[in-house]
Amino acid sequence: MSAQLREQILAACKQLETTGLNRGTSGNVSCREDDHFLITPSGVPVDEITPSRIVTLNFDGKVIGVGKPSSEWQFHADILRARPEINAVVHTHAPHATALACLREDLPPFHYMIAIAGGDSVRCAPYALFGTDTLSHHAVEALRDRKACLLANHGMITLGRDLDEAMSIAIELESLCQQYLIARQVGNPTLLSEEEMQAVIERFKSYGKHATETTRP
Ligand SMILES: [Zn+2]
Repeated sequence: MSAQLREQILAACKQLETTGLNRGTSGNVSCREDDHFLITPSGVPVDEITPSRIVTLNFDGKVIGVGKPSSEWQFHADILRARPEINAVVHTHAPHATALACLREDLPPFHYMIAIAGGDSVRCAPYALFGTDTLSHHAVEALRDRKACLLANHGMITLGRDLDEAMSIAIELESLCQQYLIARQVGNPTLLSEEEMQAVIERFKSYGKHATETTRP
C-alpha cells in the first residue's frame, strides 16, 4: 500500500507543476495511511522527489524512518487528525488563489462550482507565520465543514477523501479564483443566493464519488 501511495503523491506533485499550480518547492502533499501519514520532503524540487524520499510521520510529527518532512507538516497532521473522513491534503501557492489570499478575502458564491468545497464560500484563514501552530489552528478552523480554504498572504489548502479528490478541488479552486479576479477587474460579480447555493450543494451530494468530475454540465 505504502509504495502505491508514494507513487500517487509523486504523480500529484508532478501534476501540480504541469498545471501551473505549483512552482519550485513551495507546495506539499500528504496522505493518511493507518495511524501515520506520508508527506512530501522539505525543500526538494519536484524532479528530484522519488518515492523513497517521501517522508512517513506520525501525527505528533515524529519521523518514522528517515527524511525531513515539509515545513508545513504541522497543519497536514492537525487536519488529518481533526478530520477522520479526510485522507489527503494538498497545499500550494497557486497564483490566483494566492492573489486572492493576499487580499484576505473569502471566495464568495459568485459561481456554483464553489460548492465543491462543501459550502457557499471558501474561507480565507487569518495570517500566521508558515510552519507554526497558529497557522495550523487558523487552517483547521477555516476548513470547518469545507474541503478548501485560502491562507492569508500565503496560498491555499484543499482536502479529499482521497488524493484524486483533493487534487480536483485544488485545480478547480485555482480556476475559480482566476475567474473571480477577472470578474472583479471589470465589475462586481452578482453572487448566488443562499437558496441557489443550497440547491447546488444538494445536487452535488446526489452525484457519486467525485462530484468535481461529474457535475459539470
Ligand atoms: Zn506554503
